[in-house]
Amino acid sequence: MAERSLLMIPGPVEVSPGVLAAFSSPPPGHTAPALIAAFGEALESMRRVWLAEPSSQPFVVGGGGTAAMDMAVANLVSPGDRVAVVKTGYFSDRMAEMLRRQGAATLEIGAEPGGAPSPGEVREALAAERAAGAAPCRALFATHVDTSTGVRIDPEPLARLAREHGMIAVFDGVCAAAGERFDMAAWDADVYLTASQKALGLPPGLALMVVSKRALAARAARRGTPPPMYLDWEAWLPVMRAYEERRAAYFSTPPTNLVLALAAGLAEIETEGVAARFASHARAAAALRAAWRALGLRPLPAREELVANTLSALLLPADAAEVPAASSPSLPAGSTRADAPALVARIAEHGVTVATGLLPDLRSRYFRVGHMGWVVGRPDLLRRTVAAVASALRECGLGAGEQAERQALAALDPLPARETPAVVAAASPW
Ligand code: PMP
Repeated sequence: MAERSLLMIPGPVEVSPGVLAAFSSPPPGHTAPALIAAFGEALESMRRVWLAEPSSQPFVVGGGGTAAMDMAVANLVSPGDRVAVVKTGYFSDRMAEMLRRQGAATLEIGAEPGGAPSPGEVREALAAERAAGAAPCRALFATHVDTSTGVRIDPEPLARLAREHGMIAVFDGVCAAAGERFDMAAWDADVYLTASQKALGLPPGLALMVVSKRALAARAARRGTPPPMYLDWEAWLPVMRAYEERRAAYFSTPPTNLVLALAAGLAEIETEGVAARFASHARAAAALRAAWRALGLRPLPAREELVANTLSALLLPADAAEVPAASSPSLPAGSTRADAPALVARIAEHGVTVATGLLPDLRSRYFRVGHMGWVVGRPDLLRRTVAAVASALRECGLGAGEQAERQALAALDPLPARETPAVVAAASPW
């Protein structure tokens, strides 16, 4: 079998040996004692990792980030509701589309690709709406880190704005939860949703969210057609409550191996410490930013404070050189300019998988590298990634020179390695 490529896209991500071991066990039934214990522990742990109130409700459902988004929309929004959406890229566009499909009237507040509206601009947009006689917005939706642009917003002022305006505050944390600080209780946010395959460091397949008491009450007070059955919090509530009381319950069969992996992954995060996990993402991201800079790659986000810690969205050097097609087998036939997809293909030839851009208009000009979950504690794997990018840039005629390459790799030197017990490490491909 060919050697496996190191997976450095913004999800799915490499998982820890402990998570892999939990995931790889023979599937338990949903009433098995080991499953009940893992489910209960995972639910309790989610509140702590989300820094959420004891009165909040975690949900763990088979699905992914899109299912989690649909669930939030279906439970909180009724046809005709007015809702605000802060748009920072592809995934907030998806959220806006879901809200429109739900029959909501959306107030969409966006920015240029790579930018984000400021909280002041959101406030002004809400005020202008009201002044024009529109009904007040019932909810505000925003994407903590938009994976298409690498833009991270600051959720705190938006959550505060939501409180001031009586709006439910929903944050898509799919590319952020457990990697970027989100203080659900202190910020008094209502829904923080994610998927398993990102900074939680699990295989894909779970939709996860923690929901405030206020948001649950909003669902309970909802009139008219109920949400689709699979998405209905009220259908899942007895199941979540039962497992937390260490009893089995059934509504729809849970992906049991993923629940085992979730308990293992959350336990690893809590052993390291939630604040320490955020800090290790920030440290790895800062080192990588320095490495990319040395290689002549610029972040797509327009301002430094918008650059996420969980992924890098990188623009090719502006002076992308013309290279003879013959010397660069990754270039599309007839092309003499290395564009971002060609670079990504070249990086893959060095054993590291990174992602192309998601924004159609910029696709040729940028690419994305994920750095979340377990890998942020493995500087050797981050170094391998930077080395692959540096080699590919050189081969595509975009290299920054030997000294710059050395400088890029040296930027990762200060990163501490996380200890992995030998017996556990033996099970990992890395
Ligand atoms: N929101 C964000 C911010 C995402 O990054 C993604 C996935 N890349 C999604 C939503 C959708 O998640 P999924 O692919 O698991 O449906």
